[in-house]
Amino acid sequence: KRKREQEDLSKLKEAIANLDPKDPKIANFTDLPLCQATASGLRASHFEVLTDVQRTAIPLAIKGNDILGAAKTGSGKTLAFLVPVLEKLYRERWTEYDGLGALIISPTRELAMQIFEVLRKIGRNHVFSAGLVIGGKSLKEEAERIGRMNILVCTPGRMLQHLDQTAGFDVDNLQILVLDEADRIMDMGFQSAVDALVEHLPKTRQTLLFSATQSKRVSDLARLSLKDPEFVSVHEKE
Ligand code: ADP
Ligand code: MG
Repeated sequence: KRKREQEDLSKLKEAIANLDPKDPKIANFTDLPLCQATASGLRASHFEVLTDVQRTAIPLAIKGNDILGAAKTGSGKTLAFLVPVLEKLYRERWTEYDGLGALIISPTRELAMQIFEVLRKIGRNHVFSAGLVIGGKSLKEEAERIGRMNILVCTPGRMLQHLDQTAGFDVDNLQILVLDEADRIMDMGFQSAVDALVEHLPKTRQTLLFSATQSKRVSDLARLSLKDPEFVSVHEKE
């Protein structure tokens, strides 16, 4: 079984290396080099045709690029980052013993919960553990759980509190950081919390930053957190 998995993984990596991110034939999720677990999770959740932002961002992200993505509300940004997150950890053969592999930052509890629900749906066939860190429970209660999580969806303030205060919470292995709704993160005054948070994270990681609008403050945040990003900007035709 292990040998079979190894072979599948090297085939997947080869397909990604050969993928042309601008290939006009990419239209559906099945046109992308994704692992079985993600592909079947998407199928079971009835996701089939890629939206514009997904078609543009996912190929670049699974090839390892940092992404600065702007697309209006409702354009499908959640899957544009969740699919690359699952794929990254799969390709790294992440297990329960590897600790935190992905961190997804959202401006509000409500949005974090929505992301978490989508993650549960499309990630149902993966073995990764995932948790929400949005406050509402005692810091101690959360602290006991987060050390065991592979993927966390969080709000900035609460996450920073854990990084500063929770003993033994280790983020040194983090592979991928997502900043969702970056414009709202900035509007809500989380700039310094996010700056401090990013300071705790390893420098060698992939970062995906998405927002509904482009603004000076978003590009300030991008400059601090992204490395040679690919710019993905989608304007739907009216
Ligand atoms: P955004 O974050 O850009 O505002 P969401 O990721 O919340 O957008 O997606 C908006 C809606 O579109 C959701 O109801 C989601 O289920 C749906 N959706 C996203 N991607 C697809 C897709 N590829 N096919 C069909 N529906 C999709
Ligand atoms: Mg969104």
